[in-house]
Amino acid sequence: MTAEYHCPSCGRSMPAGWPVWRCDCGGPLELAPVLGLSRRDIDAGEASLWRYAAALLFQGPPRVSLGEGWTPLIRGHWQGAPVWFKLESQMPTGSFKDRGTAVMINHLLEVGVGPVHEDSSGNAGASLATYAAAAGLSCRIYVPASAPRAKLVQIAACGAELCAVPGSRQDVADAAVAAAGDSFYASHNWQPYFIEGTQTLAFEIWEQLGFQVPDNILVPTGYGSNILGLERGFDALERAAEIAARPRLFAVQAANCAAFAAAWNAGADGLVPFAASDTAADGIATMHPVRPAQVLRALRRSKGGVVAVTEETIAPALRELGRRGLFVEPTAATAGAALTRLLQRGTIAPGETTVAVLTGHGLKAADRIGALLSAAAG
Ligand SMILES: [Zn+2]
Repeated sequence: MTAEYHCPSCGRSMPAGWPVWRCDCGGPLELAPVLGLSRRDIDAGEASLWRYAAALLFQGPPRVSLGEGWTPLIRGHWQGAPVWFKLESQMPTGSFKDRGTAVMINHLLEVGVGPVHEDSSGNAGASLATYAAAAGLSCRIYVPASAPRAKLVQIAACGAELCAVPGSRQDVADAAVAAAGDSFYASHNWQPYFIEGTQTLAFEIWEQLGFQVPDNILVPTGYGSNILGLERGFDALERAAEIAARPRLFAVQAANCAAFAAAWNAGADGLVPFAASDTAADGIATMHPVRPAQVLRALRRSKGGVVAVTEETIAPALRELGRRGLFVEPTAATAGAALTRLLQRGTIAPGETTVAVLTGHGLKAADRIGALLSAAAG
């Protein structure tokens, strides 16, 4: 099947078999078609996301893999209600980003890309630096000067060039876009093959629940690549007539920097102006998501929504997760804080099947976690 890019902004279509990160009109590209996935297509002997290779738009087998995907889905309780925790923290680089990066880098190898670069609050940069190293590609990562040190060390340890940019997350993104002539801009926010990878999150949740979809999925959300991946994955399962219902998707944001919550509350189809301040959930502090309309549409279509959690609720959720043996970064702990809210409001009933996606490992932000927990205790 020939893969094509489509630009929703100008309506242009083009083949996907060449290196491109956005449309000539400046809009983000989407990848078509969505291949279906039926349970017979699964390579059950492959303990990674490549067990779903039949549903991914590739010509050949993957050239680079570090065993990404097939992360644990474990049963637990939260505020007296049953919940499943999806441990995306247990990826090769400690964050969910490897799902998208592994698929994206294999596509880029297939179309002959050389040096790559990317901007990141830390986790996506660590992921790209890791997979570029495994693929033998040179790599440069633009990060906020304020990014957690462990993430910067992780990037440098992979041999990538590290460019710390003072200012906001948007300043970092602007610096990376400006460098797009020197090497390929392998942006997890722009490259459609990243979402081709994150769709396997939907496949795994479905398969691990015994080929059932849950009622609700809560996802810490900055740019929305997991929301778009889940949407695409459930499309693929629906297309193969494997599922009859779809889960409600809840995007979880930090109230201090909540682009999607502002748009959602305004009933808007795109971004609206909002005030932002610092948050402990650095991984989802996004001012300008690249595909806001698509993310909002996916949330509405799923009958879910956006939950913005306050800073005061992040540390207690972090502590409660830690006491269950789930050591995650503050960004991931927002899923717990959001679940508390949704249960209290009655939006989620205790009898429903709910999955909380824990997106990043605590070792990524140990210093910040230490500060948060001691502040909360004092
Ligand atoms: Zn266009």
